Amino acid sequence: MSIRRPLACGAACALFLGVFAGPLSPAAGAADEPDQYGTVAFGGLTYVRPDTVRAQVSYSCVEDSATALTVGFEQELATGLEAAGNATTEHVTCDGRTHAVTLDITKSAGSADFADPAVGFATVTLVGDEEPVTEAGFNVGTSGRSLGRTDTHYRWKQAVIPYEVDAGLPPRKQNQVRAAIAHWSSTTPVVFVARTTDNAELYPDYVYFQPSPRSCNSYVGRIGGKQAINITNGCQTGSITHEIGHAVGLWHEQSRPDRDDYVKIDLTPVKASSRHNFAKHNDSTFDTAYDFGSIMHYPAKAFSTTTDTITPLKPLPAGTVMGQRNGLSKGDIQAVTTMYQ
Ligand SMILES: [Zn+2]
Repeated sequence: MSIRRPLACGAACALFLGVFAGPLSPAAGAADEPDQYGTVAFGGLTYVRPDTVRAQVSYSCVEDSATALTVGFEQELATGLEAAGNATTEHVTCDGRTHAVTLDITKSAGSADFADPAVGFATVTLVGDEEPVTEAGFNVGTSGRSLGRTDTHYRWKQAVIPYEVDAGLPPRKQNQVRAAIAHWSSTTPVVFVARTTDNAELYPDYVYFQPSPRSCNSYVGRIGGKQAINITNGCQTGSITHEIGHAVGLWHEQSRPDRDDYVKIDLTPVKASSRHNFAKHNDSTFDTAYDFGSIMHYPAKAFSTTTDTITPLKPLPAGTVMGQRNGLSKGDIQAVTTMYQ
């Protein structure tokens, strides 16, 4: 596990509690898995006015795999403050061809003004139904090269995650959010700070827990500006803990590059547009043992209503449940401690 740092845990996270229950079944034959489900490239970013910068990006994605494109941008200012914001479009066309889009990024509430020239760090994410289809980080104004996903830009500074809770989230869900935050606070070095009008300027980057009718999901790592964690009514404390794990910077455990030594993935029952959720993230790093008990591991029937999509290749340690959502495992805690110490 380790530095799994991804972006969105879309619909599947909401599904964990419901759909993924069923009898074990024999694994079906291996399915073909494309090497790449999407690409993003950065075309440039220009200063427009103190509250706006304009980003040009291009992307491609396989059939219906992504539902949105988000561009985040942040600038460290000479004053010591930070300017940050992001913009999202749901007008994405996933047909395998390359498309270009221009997005105006407005600074987040509490963010300092953007400075001219627009030198900083940008993230581009094609948002999928669970995992991001693809994402990349770019130095803007100094180099056009991608920095890769293990870059520390995605980490929260000083391990502090400022957060706000939407007042429209039902009280029971708000309590579950607070329970999940308390669990993280008591077991890891990550510190959660309630963001208020008084401290907003200190924290332009923050997590925003909000209700969603559709999916329980989160970006992976800090993307710059306000970033949502969506909470459905079916998303309970354990799943909210899982979503916070994404925001902290964790990918799914079975996305590790060495996962084929531990699990067999069968995509046969998975619709094509969801298969990207089983992609390996070869740019992730890790220094802990493969953890079947991670709260970031999928259950056996993830994205399937019939046969298992994930079959362990080794016996699970006694007491270990693959796909559990009770709490952070020892391995989860170890990985996050390594990331943030
Ligand atoms: Zn997830």
